[in-house]
Amino acid sequence: MTALPFLPFSRPTIDEATIAAVGDVLRSGWLTNGGPQVAAFEAQLSAYFGGRPVRTFNSGTCTMEIALRIAGVGSGDEVITTPVSWVATANVILEVGATPVFADIDPVTRNIDLDKLEAAITPRTRAIIPVYLAGLPVDMDRLYAIADKHKLRVVEDAAQAFGSTWKGRRIGAFGDFASFSFQVNKNLTTGEGGCLVMNTAEEAALADKFRLQGVTRSGVDGIDVDVLGGKYNMTDIAAAIGIGQMKTIDAVNAHRRALAAHYFKSFGPEFEAHSSAQLPQQAFDTSNWHLFQIVLPDRGPTTRADFMTRMKTEFNVGTGFHYAPIHLFTLYREMGFKEGMFPESERIGRLTVTLPMFYAMTEADVERAVGAVKSVLAK
Ligand SMILES: *Cc1c(COP(=O)(O)O)cnc(C)c1O
Repeated sequence: MTALPFLPFSRPTIDEATIAAVGDVLRSGWLTNGGPQVAAFEAQLSAYFGGRPVRTFNSGTCTMEIALRIAGVGSGDEVITTPVSWVATANVILEVGATPVFADIDPVTRNIDLDKLEAAITPRTRAIIPVYLAGLPVDMDRLYAIADKHKLRVVEDAAQAFGSTWKGRRIGAFGDFASFSFQVNKNLTTGEGGCLVMNTAEEAALADKFRLQGVTRSGVDGIDVDVLGGKYNMTDIAAAIGIGQMKTIDAVNAHRRALAAHYFKSFGPEFEAHSSAQLPQQAFDTSNWHLFQIVLPDRGPTTRADFMTRMKTEFNVGTGFHYAPIHLFTLYREMGFKEGMFPESERIGRLTVTLPMFYAMTEADVERAVGAVKSVLAK
């Protein structure tokens, strides 16, 4: 057992200026619902995404659900996604009454395999939800070629991809719907929250309704409800945190890239051959390095549970697993999904491990995590 302090796999950094700004909001008396911080945060986000319309919400999950509602996806429609994501990605498909259809992943990128996605399209397919796992986009040219050819809406689950790019353009600055999460582990956090980048003012007006009970106000006391909305608005308190985080996001993402580069350097060119573990793709021109994930060897000296336990107890290093494949959860098995349907997802789901990666980490922390991985895998 080491005497070193616990190194978690993720930890938020909130600077003092942001903490002071939250204090100002609390003192202002306007905490939520149409407040100045939400409006300012949405304006900053819109500028960040090339001037496209943006609305904020109180989670990345409801952000995706609202995108599906704006697209008119519902009962009788199929939506194709990946099994390797946070369960929210598939739950929102069920939430709007549509049918989830899975396509297996590419074992190198660990994202949805676009050939398998295209093969899963039927006459009932209405939308696709690609997930940019760990911040790595899919082949965006191919994705939108498929969507155009088959006339499908795209709800990009870009929860992990704030600041990721494709051919020099930000994810969210082009394409159809892009949904981001500001949950506490994400590169940019508001505690909890999310935002949706849309195409038109009409879609943004619908987003306004869906996030607040379907209400439209007019004049001094005019109010009407013409669609079923919910209670999904972001608070001014959360938006103030987001505004503070926007000031450092470029530095945060640059530091994460540097830490990822240091991971590869510290593992060294022989690591994969020696250990049979698999490192992530070296996607330095696209990924925001939200997560740094390795895939353990299939017949390794330890199971993943052993590996994670020993990382913690012997080296005081935290790890995570992102994610267990969605189709094998009981709720989804009850719909007919079972083992063997998506073998790559099942293998990665069983063997993937997330190593520490966050803004306050140092290169020494990376070396410590790598040293621990090598020791645990060696015996
Ligand atoms: C975080 C996350 C979500 C959900 O976002 P919340 O803000 O927690 O609701 C959905 N999909 C992926 C891939 C995520 O990482």
